[in-house]
Amino acid sequence: MEGGIPRAAAEELDAADPLAAFRERFVIADPELIYLDGNSLGRMPTATPDQLRAVLEEGWGEGLVRSWEGWIDWGSRLGDRLAEHVLGARPGEVVVSDSTSVNLYKLAGAALEATPGRGTVLMDAEDFPTNRYVLQGLAAQRGLRLHQVPSDLDGGIDLRQLRSALDRDVALVVLSLVSYRSGALLDMARVNELARSVGTRVLWDLSHAAGAVPVELAATGADLAVGCTYKYLNGGPGSPAYLYVRRELQARLRQPIWGWFGQREQFRMGPTYDPVPGVERFLVSTPPLLSLAAIDPGLTLVEQAGVERIRAKGLLLGQLVSELAAAWLTPLGFRSASPSAAERRGSHVSLYHPDAWRICQTLAADAKVICDYRTPDRLRIGPSPLYTRFTEIWDAMDRLREVADRRTYLSRPAGLARVT
Ligand SMILES: *Cc1c(COP(=O)(O)O)cnc(C)c1O
Repeated sequence: MEGGIPRAAAEELDAADPLAAFRERFVIADPELIYLDGNSLGRMPTATPDQLRAVLEEGWGEGLVRSWEGWIDWGSRLGDRLAEHVLGARPGEVVVSDSTSVNLYKLAGAALEATPGRGTVLMDAEDFPTNRYVLQGLAAQRGLRLHQVPSDLDGGIDLRQLRSALDRDVALVVLSLVSYRSGALLDMARVNELARSVGTRVLWDLSHAAGAVPVELAATGADLAVGCTYKYLNGGPGSPAYLYVRRELQARLRQPIWGWFGQREQFRMGPTYDPVPGVERFLVSTPPLLSLAAIDPGLTLVEQAGVERIRAKGLLLGQLVSELAAAWLTPLGFRSASPSAAERRGSHVSLYHPDAWRICQTLAADAKVICDYRTPDRLRIGPSPLYTRFTEIWDAMDRLREVADRRTYLSRPAGLARVT
């Protein structure tokens, strides 16, 4: 230890951690491996295999088609639990279905359909690519202008810049509450208010926020939101996403994919599409039951821990990352690529280094530390509070400084892999 924080300080934080016991509720296949990528794919809860086995053996194997009686409204039931414990929404405002990209298309399409006469869609130019592509497609189909508001790669979108882009031609604003690259956290209440002042709506992407930071959709008067369940909610690879539509708005919006799961009296198989008035009108089709079932164990853990406590620990984890980075890594060519105050970030921290990609690969291959790389030159460190120890942060940062110091990464290929 020369400079920075002694490992004993991290040990003390672990000893005082009220969420420490939650780690045992996750599969830790290799205790040596430090996993700092829970914001990309959360770890598997220990209860998930049994949950899936029950659905397979009793539900599918024995129950066969009869099981749909119990399964049919799982998307709504999971939605209500997310609403209450994770999203700060009211019952009947959230439903689980499809993927984040598809839900974004559905809700953006619905909002644009309901806003004739306005010609602009606003988004953060540095938002997650799928959001950009979905909105480019919608804008092209509907003859709208997509205004990508420039935003700082490290600090996120500047509210003054957003305000100056907002006018009465804006039909919809799409923003991520937590930026996928820098972790920058927006003020949801403030942004909703700005949008309302010009009579428009915000569609929030909560993918990097849900289960990491408190979200108050109802209290901030949010209109629309989407997000995924496989990051901090630990629902498993490709688990279905959720969507939120403010209750007062639901019956007025009609989504572009008219599927039978949105239909009134679905099993009457009526001749013409006539959607239910509630949030289920934003459903399309038969849910992927196994993936839907896998959401339950992860959500149960978040409910038991409570988002407030998760956030409190996330702030401390993030602070430890940034303090150690400042002490150990700045002299080695790194700098912070996230807002400096922990309260202005979600649960991940990004670091800039010109060789971030090769360092990321070397950490995984030689030092048993998994974090991820994001273009153009960012190392993203995402400690998920439910299962990450403070000593793991200390050890990971120590291994990172060793890799950077010895420059062992220079022998790795510079070309990107298929998945980064
Ligand atoms: C992870 C993420 C997604 C994922 O979209 P999929 O449709 O599940 O592939 C979308 N938006 C943001 C902001 C994300 O971080």
